[in-house]
Amino acid sequence: MKKSEQKKFLKVLNENRSKLIEKARRAMTGDIHLDPNDFPDEIDTASSESGLAFIGRLRERERVLIQKIDIALQKIEDGTYGVCASCDEDIGVQRLMARPVADLCIDCKSQQERLEH
Ligand SMILES: [Zn+2]
Repeated sequence: MKKSEQKKFLKVLNENRSKLIEKARRAMTGDIHLDPNDFPDEIDTASSESGLAFIGRLRERERVLIQKIDIALQKIEDGTYGVCASCDEDIGVQRLMARPVADLCIDCKSQQERLEH
């Protein structure tokens, strides 16, 4: 991956990270604002569950995502960002734009999903 592209992803990842931390912080202080666009498939089930359980799950999800972002940031530093963790091929800028924390190329990802299901 080109240096200029790495810089772009570094910026995107850092922005995502601060947004997540801000959201987690607000959830902790009770001043939570949920953007349905961020969690499209979880909003429906949330209405039938207690709000507290939902916030707990949201924070868990954010925590995991922040960890993934940290790993991606470390990879940019190491110069291994954008390389598939399974087959060592380039993940592809297009896929990374859609999912900056992706660590598998689309082929390995679909293979993994087939194994899981
Ligand atoms: Zn791969």
